[in-house]
Amino acid sequence: MVELTENDEVVPLMLKYMHKQRHIDIKTLDFNALKGLADAAEKYSIYPAMDICKLRMEYAGCYALSRLRDDAFLDVLGYAAKHSYSDICDLCAPATLGTSLTIARLALGPLSTLKWATYREGFLDILRTQSTPPVAQHVLHKGGSAICDVWKEIDIQSRVMTRVLADPECLLSTAWKDEMIALFLACPYCARRVKAWLDGMMRSASTLPVFSEVVV
Ligand SMILES: [Zn+2]
Repeated sequence: MVELTENDEVVPLMLKYMHKQRHIDIKTLDFNALKGLADAAEKYSIYPAMDICKLRMEYAGCYALSRLRDDAFLDVLGYAAKHSYSDICDLCAPATLGTSLTIARLALGPLSTLKWATYREGFLDILRTQSTPPVAQHVLHKGGSAICDVWKEIDIQSRVMTRVLADPECLLSTAWKDEMIALFLACPYCARRVKAWLDGMMRSASTLPVFSEVVV
């Protein structure tokens, strides 16, 4: 006799997919039940459930269901990494970049945690090496000054650092860059300096490997 490790909620769901009967409406499952069924389907090779669970987990990672739980992205990433679904890994991984290692390791296995930390480290390195906005001759204000009152008032450096630390995924978002530049409507010199700085950071971010390509 085989002892199942799945909980009382997941076992009846598994059995429904193993018998010749109409399958359950998977949309009615909450996230925990879906994740339990998705893992069990892979573990026991329950083929009728595998593809539909994969689709639903992908949906959960990307869209509405993920809003119900902050850590759903991580759980979907953990599922996708464990079962080698690279496409789902790469879709979800950017949204997990703002998570702490302590929380990430609870959702990911040891190997995926190491891979995730290595993936995130690339983004943190950008913060370490490009935290100071460079000054180019063409962005100097009249009189040769690199900064003005607008720059001091907005304190863009701490704004950018705070945001990128909390949510490194923003380095992949043009909308965020535009939002930062728009703060400097009153000074085109500062706007150009901020644009050059953020362009550089985002160029670096765009060259980082996606999650599935990270080698550990
Ligand atoms: Zn200025």
